[in-house]
Amino acid sequence: MVRIDGSQGEGGGQVLRTALALSLVTGTPFEMVNVRAGRAKPGLLRQHLTALKAAETVGAADVTGAELGSKQLSFHPRALSAGNYHFAVGTAGSATLVLQTVLPALLHAEGPSTLMLEGGTHNPAAPPFDFLEKTYLPLLNRMGPRVDVKLERPGFYPAGGGKFRVDVQPAKLQPLHLMERGRVLRREAVAQVAAIPFDVARRELVAVSAVLGLRPDQQRGEDLKRAFGPGNVLRVEVESEHVTEVFTGFGERGKRAEAVGEEVAGKVKRYLDANVPVGEHLCDQLLLLLALAKGGSFRTLALDGHALTQRETMAHFLDVKVDVREVERDVAEVTVRA
Ligand code: AMP
Repeated sequence: MVRIDGSQGEGGGQVLRTALALSLVTGTPFEMVNVRAGRAKPGLLRQHLTALKAAETVGAADVTGAELGSKQLSFHPRALSAGNYHFAVGTAGSATLVLQTVLPALLHAEGPSTLMLEGGTHNPAAPPFDFLEKTYLPLLNRMGPRVDVKLERPGFYPAGGGKFRVDVQPAKLQPLHLMERGRVLRREAVAQVAAIPFDVARRELVAVSAVLGLRPDQQRGEDLKRAFGPGNVLRVEVESEHVTEVFTGFGERGKRAEAVGEEVAGKVKRYLDANVPVGEHLCDQLLLLLALAKGGSFRTLALDGHALTQRETMAHFLDVKVDVREVERDVAEVTVRA
């Protein structure tokens, strides 16, 4: 039984989700104390409880501590099953993070799976659906499996109501090497509003485009009639020869649209200036995939708390070596080896 202190590093939900994912894949049971101790509202929130229950279902696991607010739990998987699954967060909590908890296991299952996920699809501090679709899954698919997603309805905080479908064709994960971004082929800013004045989207586009020098044909505003509002998200997609990155910012009450635009532009600029293929958020998520493949390498920005915590959590379950070498300021090279 592996024992994990959930307050390690970031001390957030990632420690739990990664432990669940790797416990399912390796069949190793674990106990966790101080669950999400580093967060303002520690313990299991609805999103984490849904991830835990999803992992319980997929792995026919014996679980203790599966309650809202729980700061201590144990998880013992018995048998991994492919299948048709439906997991609903029940609030606007991130459904993409629920997917990332069980996806590694389903990639190792005997047959294909289909999932319907409900909850938030566009949440701050979580991978937005567009990032999943355009950044994360294309790289995962390059490693062997075939995972397709289809958004049925976007879901924002606090209303939720988002829904998407996932089709998983498992295959053994092959190592991935992503050292070069290649030429930038396309840059596009997309501002979406749901039950929010369209002017907010327009102002975000003006602000982000002023910093990045985007032409009118590289900007798009969308009024999302299907989503339960209110909601507002601005994303910039940077499609390069070897990878597409998606950068996101969210409108909030009391935050000016211009500030959202400038914030997203700042993230894009940092990525473009560093001339790396892998951005900040992709880094910690890719690290887990390479560890499962037992090999690979990539160039990225200076590692953040999530990436360092990911490395620590993975070490409880997998015998892989992760080397991080700082190449220059804000450029790091990550190598994963068995
Ligand atoms: P935690 O804060 O521990 O719940 O973990 C949050 C996870 O969401 C990490 O894997 C982050 O890399 C990921 N994440 C946060 N913001 C974004 C974003 N804008 N785009 C993609 N992934 C994100």
